[in-house]
Amino acid sequence: MTDTTDTSFARPDARAVDQLRDIRFETGIAPHALGSVLVSFGKTRVICAASIDERVPGWMRAQKVEGGWMTAEYSMLPYSTLDRKQRDISRGKADGRTIEIQRLIGRSLRAVFDLKKLTGKTIWVDCDVLQADGGTRTASITGAYVAAQIAVQKLLADEKLEENPFTESVAAVSVGVFQGVPVLDLNYPEDKDATVDANIVMTGSGKFVEVQSSGEEATFSRQELDTLLELGEKGIREINLLQEAAIAEGLKP
Ligand code: UDP
Repeated sequence: MTDTTDTSFARPDARAVDQLRDIRFETGIAPHALGSVLVSFGKTRVICAASIDERVPGWMRAQKVEGGWMTAEYSMLPYSTLDRKQRDISRGKADGRTIEIQRLIGRSLRAVFDLKKLTGKTIWVDCDVLQADGGTRTASITGAYVAAQIAVQKLLADEKLEENPFTESVAAVSVGVFQGVPVLDLNYPEDKDATVDANIVMTGSGKFVEVQSSGEEATFSRQELDTLLELGEKGIREINLLQEAAIAEGLKP
């Protein structure tokens, strides 16, 4: 991967090319939500909270669709960015990026979830970025799964659900080409200068849910894409273990 004889390349925070940032989960951060976690990927920090609504969206009732629904909302708190970001409510509308990200989070969760087993309920997963330093969408997906799984486990314990609708876990990480070198889990200084930027969403069993890969005033080869996917897969395998530990911690009485 990296040419170890090349001493000119260094990541801004001195990580190895295939090294994740310090990833942490603080569960129970929002006690009124059934499941919650503050997930940190280095300086990127996102609050993810899962709440239960005892009804399904109007379109499901109208179309008599069986089961339940799970959806996500994403926002960057005004003070999460270097320059204050105006709240969507003050601007009067959500920007395109926000809509794209929240749909990605919802799709990622639903890919590993059997909605038929969530009869008559909606799970709302709110992801609010406390601090943005690159990779907020991938941190959101990773934390959203932890928050939602904790909420589901509590519903099961309270006999409000018969079976766990989650079929497996889901996590995400960013990868990209920075100064010509494929790297894992980009922070903002890397993301800003990356020529290729990709977000990988994978299940615990190693299946892809989504791969968003784009050249920024640049193109990329099949070989580079393969390297990026391998890096992403390695990172996600490590993240899966951390997610499992966080869920167990979050369910401790
Ligand atoms: N960013 C920002 N303001 C914005 C959008 C992005 O400061 O309105 C920064 C933030 O650090 C974010 C990074 O740019 O994490 C990369 O943004 P991108 O749209 O690629 O999404 P992300 O990598 O956070 O999923």
